[in-house]
Amino acid sequence: MTTHQEDGWQEIRDGVRALCERFPDAYWRDKDRERAYPAEFVAALTEAGYLAGLIPETYGGSGLPLSAAVAILSEIHRSGGNGAACHAQMYTMGTVLRHGSDDQKARYLPEIAAGRLRLQAFGVTEPGSGTDTTSLKTFARRDGDRYVINGQKIWTSRAEHSDLMLLLARTTPREETAKRTDGLSVFLVDLRETIGKGITIRPIRTMMNHATTEVFFDDLEVPAAALIGDEGKGFRYILSGMNAERILIAAECIGDARWFIDRATAYAGDRRVFDRPIGQNQGIQFPIAEAYARTEAANLMVTKAASLYDSDQPCGPEANMAKLLAAEASWQAADMCVQTHGGFGFAEEFDIERKFRETRLYRVAPISTNLILSYLAEHVLDLPRSY
Ligand SMILES: Cc1cc2nc3c(=O)[nH]c(=O)nc-3n(C[C@H](O)[C@H](O)[C@H](O)COP(=O)(O)OP(=O)(O)OC[C@H]3O[C@@H](n4cnc5c(N)ncnc54)[C@H](O)[C@@H]3O)c2cc1C
Repeated sequence: MTTHQEDGWQEIRDGVRALCERFPDAYWRDKDRERAYPAEFVAALTEAGYLAGLIPETYGGSGLPLSAAVAILSEIHRSGGNGAACHAQMYTMGTVLRHGSDDQKARYLPEIAAGRLRLQAFGVTEPGSGTDTTSLKTFARRDGDRYVINGQKIWTSRAEHSDLMLLLARTTPREETAKRTDGLSVFLVDLRETIGKGITIRPIRTMMNHATTEVFFDDLEVPAAALIGDEGKGFRYILSGMNAERILIAAECIGDARWFIDRATAYAGDRRVFDRPIGQNQGIQFPIAEAYARTEAANLMVTKAASLYDSDQPCGPEANMAKLLAAEASWQAADMCVQTHGGFGFAEEFDIERKFRETRLYRVAPISTNLILSYLAEHVLDLPRSY
């Protein structure tokens, strides 16, 4: 069985694992079957203060560095749980913290830290723009002391379980801007006041339990005070949070990969076929060992990226590589784990098929493997831009 003392934050890891023991496989299996939101788990994490870990102490949080959040999310996934129900709060909060006004920070952050407000929804992707974010069409028109917003988002996860949504919208048409990244703005939309009054949310059923939705804006009015930072500079505000997002999702993938490796190792030792444990066959043990090596290598990149982030150094390449390598490692470990379990890999009660479906997401979202490779080719290796 693998141990990971060397990853640090052991006290936090132990605390998260103890909390996760209250939410065993059967809990997640039932939620998955019903496509139900794990509200009890999110409430327990909030109550224990883990979701406020990154909020500075002045605003009621614990003021922990990103590497502590890496430990929290990684251990949730290693325990068989799924941080996707609430992970966004950890990185969307950063946009308010870095770019919000003093007033916005004082109003929202202590409430989020106390668990009285949920900032779980992040509306960027649109059906027509996809990965090409700057071509998004949702438009916020200034009208006196308010903005009127029209458009549509897709894959806005947790919108039904959030009080606030961080929304990226155009405030100047793309053709009127010097750069395509200009003219986008970020808004903090209070969903409690607006659902049914300009916002319609429709759930999308997916192959795993993810509480994702499409959101329609129809003459939604928000106060001008909902704007974060300067109008037109929203794209760079969102970008500044993306490294944290990538590192945290990579941490979840490391947790998933370790869960698959633990399960496969245990099963390979127990299951006897032809009068010997299947794990005695190199055809079974080599894929497990390979998954282990790839996971630990990917984890080194996650650790490096988090450490650069925490010391305020540039970490774009490392954050992207961490996400790429960890998502590939968890997917490989998932496939290996199904293969190791033979037919039982497909049985709901073994939970492997559930985790297999869950971890598959991260080769596509929040950024796909191809787009990370394009980023590395263009921005690190100086190759010509491909799109
Ligand atoms: C379950 C789920 C939850 C999500 N949650 C959120 C959320 O909370 N908020 C939010 O804003 N978004 C969310 N997303 C959206 C997610 O970020 C996007 O799905 C992802 O970025 C890919 O964009 P797309 O689906 O539009 O694919 P597309 O952009 O249509 O791309 C389709 C495929 O083509 C590839 N491709 C596109 N362009 C190129 C290129 N130039 N070179 C090579 N390959 C290319 C992509 O890699 C991808 O594999 C979620 C998605 C899912 C499925």
